[in-house]
Amino acid sequence: MKSIKPGRFNSGQGIIGAVIGLVFAIFWTITAASMGAPIIFPVFGIGFIILMVTELIKNIHNFTNKDRYSEFDIVDSSEEPDPWNSRFEQTDEYNSAEYSGEAQADTDVMYCPYCGVKISHDFEYCPKCGKKLPF
Ligand SMILES: [Zn+2]
Repeated sequence: MKSIKPGRFNSGQGIIGAVIGLVFAIFWTITAASMGAPIIFPVFGIGFIILMVTELIKNIHNFTNKDRYSEFDIVDSSEEPDPWNSRFEQTDEYNSAEYSGEAQADTDVMYCPYCGVKISHDFEYCPKCGKKLPF
């Protein structure tokens, strides 16, 4: 399994973004609560605060530590199959005959349509019966 890790600069930007978001979320929550707004508004604000705190923790970790959290994991289908592909029975196209060397070899081996002898693709006349080949 291979992982894609976020860059240090992106993580640094993420810290700035999370701080701005956190300040906004705190401001939103306090304002909504003090104005006597319906309960959904301060609750939304608290949820936003939690989201920004987790963003901040993630980005600080990725900015400073060697073992950054993965942005993406690159996995082979044998390691972890895609449930969506399994559901719709999609075959891995790179495993299909179309992409295999076997199919490639088949196009190079041809047979004379008159006598059936195995011939090479670039022959103009059959080496056994001598007839002109149509391909
Ligand atoms: Zn022939």
